[in-house]
Amino acid sequence: MSIALGAIADDFTGATDLCNTLVKEGMSAVQVIGVPDGSIDLGGADAVVVALKSRTAPADEAVSMSLAAHDWLKANGAGRIIEKYCSTFDSTASGNIGPITDALLDRSGAAAAVICPAFPENGRTVYQGHLFVHGDPLSESSMKDHPLTPMRDSSLVRLMEAQSRGRAAVVPLETIRLGSEAIRAAIATLIGEGASHIVTDATERSDLVAVASAIPDDMLITGGSGIALGLPESLRKSGRIGWSPAPRPPRVEGRKLILAGSCSTATLGQIARAGSRWPTRRLRLDDIAAGDAAIADLADWADGQPADQPVLIHASAGPDEVRAAQRRYGVQGAGAMVERALGALAATLADAGHRKMIVAGGETSGALVSALGVRALRIGPEFAPGVPWTGTVGGTPMALALKSGNFGSETFFEDAFGMLP
Ligand code: ADP
Repeated sequence: MSIALGAIADDFTGATDLCNTLVKEGMSAVQVIGVPDGSIDLGGADAVVVALKSRTAPADEAVSMSLAAHDWLKANGAGRIIEKYCSTFDSTASGNIGPITDALLDRSGAAAAVICPAFPENGRTVYQGHLFVHGDPLSESSMKDHPLTPMRDSSLVRLMEAQSRGRAAVVPLETIRLGSEAIRAAIATLIGEGASHIVTDATERSDLVAVASAIPDDMLITGGSGIALGLPESLRKSGRIGWSPAPRPPRVEGRKLILAGSCSTATLGQIARAGSRWPTRRLRLDDIAAGDAAIADLADWADGQPADQPVLIHASAGPDEVRAAQRRYGVQGAGAMVERALGALAATLADAGHRKMIVAGGETSGALVSALGVRALRIGPEFAPGVPWTGTVGGTPMALALKSGNFGSETFFEDAFGMLP
């Protein structure tokens, strides 16, 4: 097996989003769940994205997982390597983006890293080194209230320098617009001046294509999925891949289920809409704390609903309720309780035949695919910006749609199920 492009993603939905971008640019892609420990047939995919759960893990664990993924990809012939994180730069002053980048720089011998979270199609733009979410500075977006990684600064230079060893510098939009040669020259100058973390502005798709084609082979590429926009074309030009046609939706028998652990604004809107149409139940932390009976009751309730309708179970709540739960159970504790409970529901209900499943939330998705024992996902067609259907590789056949909390319009759940055969 030889992989043209290998990526290390810090959460599951981010990995899917990256695969999805690569598929739309004519590559075949498989997402593997964690670093594979045995043999796994990936069917000769052009791109393999290793999905880790390292975004909010302790920094040393996140670093060792990322290095193991890097080494596995290299051992399997991966050419270029991408470090993928969230387009809202989800992290804290202690990491994990900075420590992972530093460790990958050391391991790969690269002199510097490109820092490029922009993804204009999803409203993430970078201007003068500041990250914007749908036009608002990151620190004034809904990300300021994220349960695990509240983002209170918009400067990528400050964010990166706070959590890494290196010095950060910006290639401004005026230079990006001059094209690949100018960008390459600017990067070389900044590295010559001692910068090791090079933030690239980008407010449009064409900026990302220019950046992707300008990055020298010996630099580490880091960023959101947007950075993958230009890479497939450059791999084709060098003859490393051909053009893969658009994949079909996975064909799976089974009932429809939505499990949500995201508290992001977009997900709350999607839940409100779905709740007025389909059987819906809320999973409360106090009920989880009271014992596993509540989880078993919920599974029974879901299984007893009409089989021709989707069923929704969610833990999602607004910022005040999340803060109250975190005061009571701790930030990590509350998250872990919800993830464990939703994971148990996913496994029980999949066994009972709920095999067309949508999961809302990055961390939540990670927990659920682990609970389901899924090892790899073949990426199918996209039904909302950044979110494709996927089919499980090996094991019980399931169709899974894994959504990062902030993604999708209000009709997201209907749109998703509407695409399945
Ligand atoms: P997103 O993609 O929106 O960031 P995530 O799943 O990554 O969503 O993160 C949301 C976190 O919030 C998860 O760890 C989840 O378990 C936790 N969570 C969900 N509901 C609640 C709640 N009611 N109170 C506290 N934490 C919650």
